[in-house]
Amino acid sequence: MKPAAAPTPAPGHGMDSAAVRARMVQKLAAMGIASAPVLRAMGLVERHRFVDSALVNQAYEDTSLPIGLGQTISKPNVVARMGELLLDSPLGKAGPLGRVLEIGTGCGYQAAVLAVLAREVYSIERLRGLHDKARANLRPFRLPNVHLLFGDGMLGYPKGAPYAGIIAAAGGDAIPQAWLDQLAVGGRLVAPMVTSGGKQALVVVDKTAQGLKQQLLEAVHFVPLKSGIA
Ligand code: SAH
Repeated sequence: MKPAAAPTPAPGHGMDSAAVRARMVQKLAAMGIASAPVLRAMGLVERHRFVDSALVNQAYEDTSLPIGLGQTISKPNVVARMGELLLDSPLGKAGPLGRVLEIGTGCGYQAAVLAVLAREVYSIERLRGLHDKARANLRPFRLPNVHLLFGDGMLGYPKGAPYAGIIAAAGGDAIPQAWLDQLAVGGRLVAPMVTSGGKQALVVVDKTAQGLKQQLLEAVHFVPLKSGIA
């Protein structure tokens, strides 16, 4: 996705970003991402606009990068994987995904990807500095379906509930009850969680008419989920 009124490219990045993104998409497909809408979204969103100019040349590598205040932008492969898991839920398969909640806006990259996959995106960040940074990063893209919120995402965002999907970009010891309460029936939550042994794994929780179904997937490395704002 290109900004509505394309600002001049970051000085000195010297790359044809569409071609570099197309190569990233090929690599994501080779790593097992199969969802056409997700691959399309990853090809559209200009990740280099979400990182500092000194890191622009690494923007399309499959690596997390610092975004300030001790936080990181997630690896493309992880963003794509989480998007694919969201779309693979009953509500995701039934048609375009409705409202999605993201906990941990960070630099706003994943919110921009989700904006292609879902009708409405609510994204909440607890660090004022990053909330402001995401707002500035996303402004040129003019995405009317992205709603940036400053607050403690452990409480979710009840005003937008119920959500067809909830995605967390930070991992705690447990899945907050508020997230489960705010998930729609047929909806899916995808989040990192600290498991026994102190390592993180990706957790998927589906809300069905019969109750919650949880699956523990692969190991991941996300920043910690923290309470309160700063
Ligand atoms: N999706 C982001 C990833 C940012 S890293 C991106 O594309 O850049 C995860 C973010 O989660 C950090 O910015 C961190 O401050 C935030 N975070 C951690 N705990 C949180 C909470 N309780 N509520 C909201 N944001 C939180």
